[in-house]
Order: sequence, then structure tokens, then C-alpha cells
Amino acid sequence: MSVPDFAYRRPATLAEALDLLRSDPEARALAGGQTLIPALKQRMTRPSILVDLQSIPEMRGIEVDADRVSIGAMTPHAVTATDPRIRAAIPALAAMAARVSHPQVRNLGTMGGSIANNDPAADYPAAVLGLGAEIETTRRRIAADDFFLGLFTTALEPGELVLRIHFPRPDNCGYVKFANPASGYVTTGAFVARGPAGVRVAINGAGPVVFRFTDAEARLAGDFTPAALDGLSLPAAGLNSDIHASAAYRARLAAVGTRRALAIALAQPPEQIKESA
Ligand SMILES: Cc1cc2nc3c(=O)[nH]c(=O)nc-3n(C[C@H](O)[C@H](O)[C@H](O)COP(=O)(O)OP(=O)(O)OC[C@H]3O[C@@H](n4cnc5c(N)ncnc54)[C@H](O)[C@@H]3O)c2cc1C
Repeated sequence: MSVPDFAYRRPATLAEALDLLRSDPEARALAGGQTLIPALKQRMTRPSILVDLQSIPEMRGIEVDADRVSIGAMTPHAVTATDPRIRAAIPALAAMAARVSHPQVRNLGTMGGSIANNDPAADYPAAVLGLGAEIETTRRRIAADDFFLGLFTTALEPGELVLRIHFPRPDNCGYVKFANPASGYVTTGAFVARGPAGVRVAINGAGPVVFRFTDAEARLAGDFTPAALDGLSLPAAGLNSDIHASAAYRARLAAVGTRRALAIALAQPPEQIKESA
């Protein structure tokens, strides 16, 4: 195996980072490195320049007001898990972050890196889609419904970076993850939220890309109670089937997870106190 040959840069400004990414089609952004570095080690990717995003101010910080929570793309999972403002406003998001892998991954891995990577077994895509968040990039704002396009594929164009994720504050939210016991990644997860965008239910891990469980949403829209989900099922057609779980099992987990996520959403309502950053 040949030794990887690449340059490393740590720009201090967004403009410099974008110039570096534009300078070479093989240049790649580096966030927490928790996906990219293992891929480098396995020679699955061969970038010419690694552009480290650690020092870019526009990608850092958390802002909370009465209507929304805005989280910088470079926010590590450990901060999302413990920030008292996020825990109060979107407890299911903080709880989700707390369950991502082990402390090293949580200290280094970032929300922006996770959603840009769009692993079907990642946690955050379910929160971003389930809460109807908006993704602010270096070029535009993208609704969550238009962001996650397919397996490891997003609406991001070459050289386009995620700056911040804007979450509307929900009235209720809950997340349940059935994790692969070996890796901790999601076999199937369900995120249930009720808020300004109505009732939304997002399922991750089950298909090639996170998706909305529209049947569950329709039932919960008029009756946000467990009874509304009686008899709920998800068709297995098109779901992932692999050594970890069959499509039918994932479909079952999606229905059970939705019920459990609803129970959490009802039992642990977010604080609605008017806050400012
Ligand atoms: C052992 C282990 C267990 C894990 N378990 C889980 C788990 O249970 N659940 C889970 O969700 N995740 C899990 N992860 C993944 C982890 O959450 C990573 O942090 C995440 O997938 C990638 O984030 P990162 O900041 O490390 O990104 P990087 O690895 O640095 O980058 C990933 C990709 O995103 C691009 N990128 C990064 N930032 C941006 C940006 N701002 N704009 C545009 N593109 C960008 C990079 O160019 C690269 O292509 C695990 C990882 C490991 C190593």
C-alpha cells in the first residue's frame, strides 16, 4: 500500500478555506475526522489537500432564541450532548448526541461532518429531517426535506460547506435508536417531533437514506397519542437487508421505534421558556 501523499492546511477564514477547496478538485474538507481519517487510512479516499475547518468562526457556536436553535457545523457531539440550552430546547437532540459512540468520537466528530457524510446508519439525519431543520451553507439555505438525497449523497455541491443547522424549537420530540451492538451505529431509529412544521416522523438506518414515515405522521397529526399508532406498520419493500437485519425486521423496528419515540416525546417535553443567546 502506497503512503498517502497530501497537504494539510488549517485556514483561519472561510474565504481562505473556500479558495483552497476551489484550488483543486481533489481537496477535501476535514471536520472531526471520525469518518474521513478512517477512510484515508484504508485508502478509500486520496485527497490532494485536507482543509481543516477547525478555525473557521462562522462554523462555531450555538444560538438559542424563542423560535429556534442554531448550531454551528463544527460543534462536536459532546457539546451538543451537554449544552444546557440544547438540552432544554431539544432534549431528544442532546440525548441523541450523548449516545453517539464513545467519548473520543463525541469529542471530535461534528454535526456538520455527520450530515454532510449522510451515512444511512448515522443519528443526526433523523433529527435534522424529523425537526424540519434548515441547513445553511456557504451558498444557500436548504430545507432538510431537500438535503438528504441518497446513500452518502446530499444536496451539497462540490466546494459547498455546511455552516450552521437551524432547528425550529419543537413542542415535543423523542428519538429511539436500535443500535447495532457491535458498532453502536443505527440499525433503525425513529425521531418523532411536533412543532411549528406540524408532526414529523423520520426513520434512519432502515433504508438507503433517512426518510419520513408519512403514515405515522398522518395518524399523529390529528391525535398525538399512542392510540393513534395502533396497528401501524411500515412496508419492508426498499428497506436495507444485510447481515445485521432483514428488511422486514427493520420495518418492524421502525414501527416499534416510532411508538417508543412518541412516548418519550410525550413524557419529556422541551422547555418553552423564552431564551436569548
Ligand atoms: C468508532 C465510531 C463510531 C461511530 N458511531 C456513530 C454513531 O453511533 N452514530 C453516528 O451518527 N455517527 C457515528 N460515528 C460517526 C461520527 O459521528 C462522525 O463524527 C461523523 O460521521 C463525521 O463527522 P466528522 O466531523 O468526524 O467529519 P469528517 O470525518 O471530518 O468528514 C466527513 C465528511 O464530511 C465532509 N465535511 C465535514 N464537515 C463538512 C462541512 N461543514 N461541510 C461540508 N462537508 C463537510 C468531509 O469532507 C468528509 O467528506 C462513529 C464514528 C466512529 C469512528
